[in-house]
Amino acid sequence: MIEAGSTHPDAPEAEPALGGNLCFCGCGRSIKGLRSRARNALGRRMSLDLAMFRIALDEGIVTEGAAELEAFVAEGPAHVERLRANLHGELSRNDIDKDAIVSWSKRSADPRSVLLKRTLEVGWACDSGDPFNVIYGGRRIAATIVEVEDTQSTVNERPRLWVTVEARPADSRPFALRKRFTVSRGAIPNVGDAVEVAYDPADPNDFAYRSAPMPTRGAAPDEAAPESAPDRIAQLKDLAELREAGALTDSEFEAEKQRLLNS
Ligand SMILES: [Zn+2]
Repeated sequence: MIEAGSTHPDAPEAEPALGGNLCFCGCGRSIKGLRSRARNALGRRMSLDLAMFRIALDEGIVTEGAAELEAFVAEGPAHVERLRANLHGELSRNDIDKDAIVSWSKRSADPRSVLLKRTLEVGWACDSGDPFNVIYGGRRIAATIVEVEDTQSTVNERPRLWVTVEARPADSRPFALRKRFTVSRGAIPNVGDAVEVAYDPADPNDFAYRSAPMPTRGAAPDEAAPESAPDRIAQLKDLAELREAGALTDSEFEAEKQRLLNS
């Protein structure tokens, strides 16, 4: 039932999906030298921050200080572009305006922590080093909790759990994702819970989950109605065709129609 994708609890933590020495811009060139690699890591971090801030603004996650964050985000791409140009050999190290870049990078810590808190408030369980990359840059999919295993360890009295979910893509076979989460005691998942999962396709076991929205009792019949209505109409048409074809008498047609309408 469950395919590959699981890791054993004792397996080492996966490498960060976006680490490595390839240029952060995605061009594929390999970045050599410690200083260049440090600038590359900075460019990657800033690109991720920009993407997460952009999505957080677009999705209305930021409720306070949105204008300030907009201004902050607007300033970012120029810094990232100078880092890219430098790594591509188009701009010397002396011309990248390092102070401005480092300043922006340091200031991004505040909105990042605010956004992370907001993300947890809207129900995501996420222990990723790059939560916004996973939740807002990743893929979303319906899943079910299939295993919850207590590690017997805690962080700030919050239990550490191995959580395995079975993800069900619409277009391919189900697969399992497994990750360790630190959760509050009131939010321990149960086997069988329906969840929404967000994962990084480059590192599927770096995932986040939240409870799937459940239909309320009042909403359920309304949701069922549109499905059954066309079905009933189709059956009535079938009956009418049978009568026209002479397969049903008028009285048989009326009886079948009443039975259908009362069902
Ligand atoms: Zn590049």
